[in-house]
Amino acid sequence: MKKTTITFILPAIGKKPGEKYIGTWKMEPLAIAVLKSLTPERFDTVFFDDRIELIDYGKKTDIVAITVETYTAKRAYKIASAYRERGVPVVLGGYHVALFPEEAQKRADAILTGNAETMWPALLEDFSAGALRSRYDGAPGFQAAAPDRSLFAEKKYLPVSLIETGRGCVHNCNFCAISQYYRCRYYKRDIEDILRDVSLSPHKYHFLVDDNLTADKAHAEALFSALAPLRIKWAGQGTLAMASDPAFLKAMKKSGCELILIGFESLEAESLRQMNKGFMAGLAQGESVRRIHDAGIGIYATFVMGYDGDTPATIERTVAFAKKHKFYTAAFNHLLPYPGTRLYRDLRQSGRLLHDAWWLAEDYNYGELAFRPKHFTPEELSRRCHEARREFSAGPVVLRRGLHAMRHTSPLMWSLFWAMNLRLGTEVDEKMNVPIGGNLDELPK
Ligand code: SF4
Repeated sequence: MKKTTITFILPAIGKKPGEKYIGTWKMEPLAIAVLKSLTPERFDTVFFDDRIELIDYGKKTDIVAITVETYTAKRAYKIASAYRERGVPVVLGGYHVALFPEEAQKRADAILTGNAETMWPALLEDFSAGALRSRYDGAPGFQAAAPDRSLFAEKKYLPVSLIETGRGCVHNCNFCAISQYYRCRYYKRDIEDILRDVSLSPHKYHFLVDDNLTADKAHAEALFSALAPLRIKWAGQGTLAMASDPAFLKAMKKSGCELILIGFESLEAESLRQMNKGFMAGLAQGESVRRIHDAGIGIYATFVMGYDGDTPATIERTVAFAKKHKFYTAAFNHLLPYPGTRLYRDLRQSGRLLHDAWWLAEDYNYGELAFRPKHFTPEELSRRCHEARREFSAGPVVLRRGLHAMRHTSPLMWSLFWAMNLRLGTEVDEKMNVPIGGNLDELPK
């Protein structure tokens, strides 16, 4: 019997004219492996990762499923249109679709909002029966099946397995789409399922996919105890509040934690208050950093610039702070109003958005501002954030940070430090001004 073919697509944010790819670290896309695991044997499956390869629009397929994030929405819609013009039905899913279903609905035969894995089998049944509905709303919950990575066999991803340990966050930062999407709730995943996925992972190194690993402390502690005997290494994301509990940090390190991504966002109490991240304002940031480093854990620090109290001096202080504490790596991002967030609504109401839908705007490029900041011109803030990244990635600064990283990371993480940080400077330049959704030269005419 002829099998039905499903093509999964992960879009890139865009590509510069004449260039096939943009440089970025490619992690395996876990959501694709999860959907593959829930796809019955009677379907053939194909996967194109638009970040690293060209999509073969001529390859036979019966249906296409595209994952959409805000940054990739414009390109995702163009890809969807190319398939639909060829008579192939398209399903769109992902965070952006859930936050903006009306927009995606116009560009797809079906949309999946919420957790796709809870509705994927039903969608396939309907499609097989010729009764595809226009919308499927996923419920909270995790898939029970183990991710199937067979579609990644020929792709060159970082040798790191993504393992999902929880979703959502209890906080309500005004710029954060995650908190809106999960309505300030945290969903913890069953530890048995996490351990099973770790045991099936092809790599020793793991990225624990969790928006805030420290959102449920008891769950995190139980997870650390369960991971410790496995002697794996992992990186994850959490808040600085973890530093207030030395026993928590010790258990985290014992379970294999090498690197933690922390959203410091700002050193300014007023900016933290504006973003509704006041729970960070009372923390002694320098002392917290020292405790995490002393526990043997490296820090990937992220900062955001452009709140109303931020000035050029704020950026200078932030870069000096990052250099002083010799972070494993750091990001200096300008504020970006994601649709669905309170920040977006506030800026829109006050008439400060430069584009109502920047993610679809024809002339919007990566690295540009989408709103008018108070103490900078949009161009100045973009330039200053870029300069901050370059200053932090300058050779002597990287050298000092690398020597510091020797003290608290494993040999492999230390090797990765050089690969990551020496690449970061050029990576920043390559990504700047990439047209969002741009350069679909390879699209069939
Ligand atoms: S702590 Fe992090 S994940 Fe949680 S709402 Fe704030 S930015 Fe989002």
